[in-house]
Amino acid sequence: MDEDLRRLPGFAWYTKQPICDNTLDNAQLETRCPLDNGRHSDASVPLRYSAGKLDQLPAELLIHILHQIDIPSLTRFRRVNRRAMELVDSLPYYNVLVKHFPNIIRAIVSIQADSFDCGTLYRTLSTKKCSTCKRFGDYLYLVDCRRVCYFCYTRQPEFFPLTTQQASAFFTSNLKKQRKAATSRQILHAAKPPSVLSLPGRYCTAWGSDGGNLARKRIRLYDRRSVVHSLAEIDLPTLDKTTREPRRFMAIITAPYLLDSGRRVDWGYFCSGCKEKTRHFRIKYTKADLLEHFARYGRVEEMPRIPGRFTHATPI
Ligand SMILES: [Zn+2]
Ligand SMILES: [Zn+2]
Repeated sequence: MDEDLRRLPGFAWYTKQPICDNTLDNAQLETRCPLDNGRHSDASVPLRYSAGKLDQLPAELLIHILHQIDIPSLTRFRRVNRRAMELVDSLPYYNVLVKHFPNIIRAIVSIQADSFDCGTLYRTLSTKKCSTCKRFGDYLYLVDCRRVCYFCYTRQPEFFPLTTQQASAFFTSNLKKQRKAATSRQILHAAKPPSVLSLPGRYCTAWGSDGGNLARKRIRLYDRRSVVHSLAEIDLPTLDKTTREPRRFMAIITAPYLLDSGRRVDWGYFCSGCKEKTRHFRIKYTKADLLEHFARYGRVEEMPRIPGRFTHATPI
C-alpha cells in the first residue's frame, strides 16, 4: 500500500468487491494452466540441444524477434527444449509479465489469445486509462489486448464479441459475389480477425459464488470492431445485452498497472466514501486519480454514529 494513501484519515481500501463478476479471474486458471516457470531451470544440468538456427542470430535480434511472437506460440516454443526455455525466460518483457501477471499469461494461453505479442501486452499494462473512457481501465479485454473499465466492457458495443456465425454473416454479404467458391466461414478464417476460444464456466455478475450463467461449451469469439471495420463501415447494431451477457465476460481479466519500468505493480483503489453513498463500488482509481477525487469531494471519514462505515467529508 502506498504510504501517501495510508496516511489519509479514514481511508479504507478494498482488493475484493462484495459481488462476483465471473470473468476469467474466476475461471480456475491456476488449475487449467499451471505455469512451470523456474521449475526446470537447474543450471547444473548441461543443455543437450540448441534452439536450431535461432541460436545463430545475434542476441539483440533474437530478443526482438521473440518479443514479437504471440504469447500462446511463445509458450509453445518455450516447451521445445531447455535452450528454448532459457531463451524465452531471458526476455525482459516476458520475465516481468510472468512475475507480476501470471494469471493474465494463463488466461491468454488458455483462451488462445494470439492477436498480440509480449511487447504489446507489456506496453498496455504500463498504461492506466480505459481505451474508451477517462476512467482507470482496471481490466484487460484479451481479444485484442485493450484496457477497459467495468462500465465500458458491459455496455460498449465493441466489447461484445461475435460468434463465428455472426462474424461470418458480415463476410457473406460483401464478399460472396467475388468469391463464390468460398464459404463465408472460410473467408472469415482466412481474414483472421482477432479472436479467442472461450473457456467453459460461469460468467456474468452474481451475488453468490455459484451464481452466473453457465456456459458448457467453448466458443470462438471474434472482435466485433475488427470484423465490422474490415468490411467498410457497417454500423454497429443497437445492443440490448449488457451485464447479463456471458460473451462480454469471457475475455475479460483484472489488470493492475506496471510502475517503475516493470519493478512494481499497483492494483488500484476503491473509494470507501462513495461505496456507501452511491454504491458505485465498481469504480477503481489509480493513486493520482484517488487523490484528485479526495480533493474534489473531500477526504473519507468514518460516519459519526455508524462505526465501520465511511463517507466523504466536506471538500478541502
Ligand atoms: Zn471505460
Ligand atoms: Zn469517493
